[in-house]
Formats: sequence, C-alpha cells, structure tokens
Amino acid sequence: MSNLKINPDRLWQSLMETARIGGTPEGGIARLTLSEDDAKVRAWLAAQTAALGMTLVVDEVGNMFATLPGRNPDLAPIAMGSHLDTQPTGGKFDGVLGVLAGLEVLRSLKDAGLTTEAPLMLVNWTNEEGSRFSPAMLGSGVWAGVYSRAEADARQDAAGESFGAALDAIGWRGTAKAGSQRFAAMFELHIEQGPVLEAEGKEIGIVTGVQGLRWFEARLTGCAAHTGSTPMTMRRNALLGAARVIEAVDAIGLAHAPHAVATVGFLEVSPNSNNVIPGQVDFTIDLRHPDDAVLAQMEAELRAAFDAAAGGIGLEGDLRRISKVDAVRFDADCIASVRAGAERAGVCAREIISGAGHDAVHCAAVAPTVMIFVPSEGGLSHNPAESTSAAECATGTQVLLDAVLAHDRLLAERHRAA
Ligand SMILES: [Zn+2]
Repeated sequence: MSNLKINPDRLWQSLMETARIGGTPEGGIARLTLSEDDAKVRAWLAAQTAALGMTLVVDEVGNMFATLPGRNPDLAPIAMGSHLDTQPTGGKFDGVLGVLAGLEVLRSLKDAGLTTEAPLMLVNWTNEEGSRFSPAMLGSGVWAGVYSRAEADARQDAAGESFGAALDAIGWRGTAKAGSQRFAAMFELHIEQGPVLEAEGKEIGIVTGVQGLRWFEARLTGCAAHTGSTPMTMRRNALLGAARVIEAVDAIGLAHAPHAVATVGFLEVSPNSNNVIPGQVDFTIDLRHPDDAVLAQMEAELRAAFDAAAGGIGLEGDLRRISKVDAVRFDADCIASVRAGAERAGVCAREIISGAGHDAVHCAAVAPTVMIFVPSEGGLSHNPAESTSAAECATGTQVLLDAVLAHDRLLAERHRAA
C-alpha cells in the first residue's frame, strides 16, 4: 500500500456536488442540522457508502457509522469522519471536508483493490454546529455519554421544534443505541478555522490537543451621577473599573504567550448616557489555554485584577464563572500515525493546538483520537467565503490516508504480538 494516492479531482467534485445541497447565493452552505437539506446530504452519503459495499448503522440520535470490513475481524475499526451540518452562514469545508475526505480514502482503497487489516469506519456526527439546537457537538456528546438521548431530544430550536421531533421528521433516527458503535481510533480531518498554517506556509497541522476554556460574567457597580457636578475625586465610575479589567485581561493573555488567549467581547454600560457617570457595567471574559494548570493560574490572575480594579475606586464587583471546558490532549499513538502520514506524503507540517471545539473532543474521552488541520484562507470560517484550495484539501486527504494506513499497521502488529 506504499504509494497509494487519493484522487484529488474526485474529492473536489464530491465537495462541490454536496455544496449544492443547501448552497447559498454567496457561495456557502446553509445546511442546518436535521433540516430537509441535512436529510438529502445524509441520503447522498448513505448511497456512496452502499456503493462501496459498506454497512451503515444509524444510532438513536442520527449519528451515521458506515463500516468496511478489514482482513482481521478481531480488530476494532479505525474511524474517520466529522459533520455534514453547517452554520446558517456556513462555508463549504467546515466539517464536510472531514467526512468527504474519509469517503475519498475508502474509494481510493477500493479502487486499488486494497484491504486494511482493521475495518474502516466513516462517521457523520449529528448537530456538531449547535446553531439550531444548542449545545454544539450534541451527537458526539450523546455517543460519548456526556448527554442522554432524552436530553438531546428535548433541545428546542428558535421555532420551538424539538431535536427529537426534527430527527423523526427527517426520518434519520436509527435503532442502534447511542454509544454502541465503537472504534479503535478516530481521525478527524478539519479546516483550521484560524490563520496560523497559512501565515507560516504549512500544509498540515498535526493537532496535539484542544485548548480548554473558562467563561465569566462580570458586573461592576458604582454610582450613576451627573458628569458636570460630580468632582473627579468623588466618583464611583463602573466603566473606569471595567476598562482596567479589560486592560488586565489583555495583559493576562500576553503574559501566558504563545498559547493563551484572553478576551472581553461583550460590554453593556448603564445608563449609557453622555452626561451620566456609568453606574453599572456588565461584561464577559473568555480565557483559553491548552493546559488546565495554566488556565487555573489565568483565572486566579483575573480574580486578583478584578478585585483590585473594583476596590481601587470603590466599586462593588461580582465575577461569576459560567462555563469551564477542560483542555484535551490527543492520543500519542494517533499523533505519531499522523506524523508518519505527513512524512510519507512529503508535506510541510507543524504541531498545532485547536482553538475551536470539535466532535473529536468527545471522541477523545472514549477512544484514541487525533485531528489533522488544513489551512483556512485568511483564517476565515463560519462564513460563505470560507476557503481551502483543492490542492490543500487533497493534501489533507492524502495525509489522512497515509495516517490511517500507518495506524492500521500499528494495530495489526500489536494484535499479532498480543
Ligand atoms: Zn466543524
């Protein structure tokens, strides 16, 4: 299997063919989860896997698992996949590439008459985006046992329709119990959705983990008073306190370079009038880092800075953590297989941490998992202009193939030795 090459034209054609399902005039895709267009693209995928002789199992939250037997029935499958749903203003590559690249790997093996030792599995997770039914990564979350099927079914969209009703309506509720489909490893190819690979001229990101995050809601309360008649020394200006916290948040991000990011992205000033000293400010803080210990340190620094900013000018402060997602480290063997695949494919690669959440986060809690990134033009994603070239998609898919073959050899060797 040493020199097997994927077919770049067939890959691109499949990307463009499915992009028409839910395609928008701006050149993107609006294919919300469990919509009619989602049903159409699922039917398309099912037909393609059937044509390859694969067996399709759909679980009770609509996750699709198509399996191609290997030579050794004692081995668990090696899985590839991602998601076919998009944001309302989605592009053509987020998620879709990971599924269609897996399909291209399977097609290439079939064309060459090659059979792996382990079975190969292609996965399409339900509702990765979370834009119609929150939270994001819901299908893989139920699969991993983070949420129950009942919790998923009860989620409602903006129109009041439930996830369960929508899944039944499009006819894609399967009978397999969520979590019953297992695999020995998961390889998720995805666009970077950030600017790093492009800026450094790298073709491939070997994703070693996903950063953790902590979100906070903050309120600073002072006293709304007349701007003309209140002397500077007698003010309790909540916005001044918020400004000092914003400055501190930026400094915290810079102090933990290069991996930390720290952002205030929402601010509400009350009463927000040009001649009233701001009496109250509500804002949010978003801290992220790939190492949970550093993230805890960043939180401690934030709390100290917040208390100092409030106390310094007589404000009352309330800082509440509203979300905490731990960092994920991907599997060392799977990372080694991607590195071996990138070397075999002869591409320019670097290790990278994912800034965004992915289905692979839930997979990693259950099975050895890794991701492969390809560049995003201008770092743009969740946008119709999201762009990764045909050559870049092909390179990622070739590395996916070579990584899966490397991992297949590893699993087969281990099985023989056991
Ligand atoms: Zn995605």
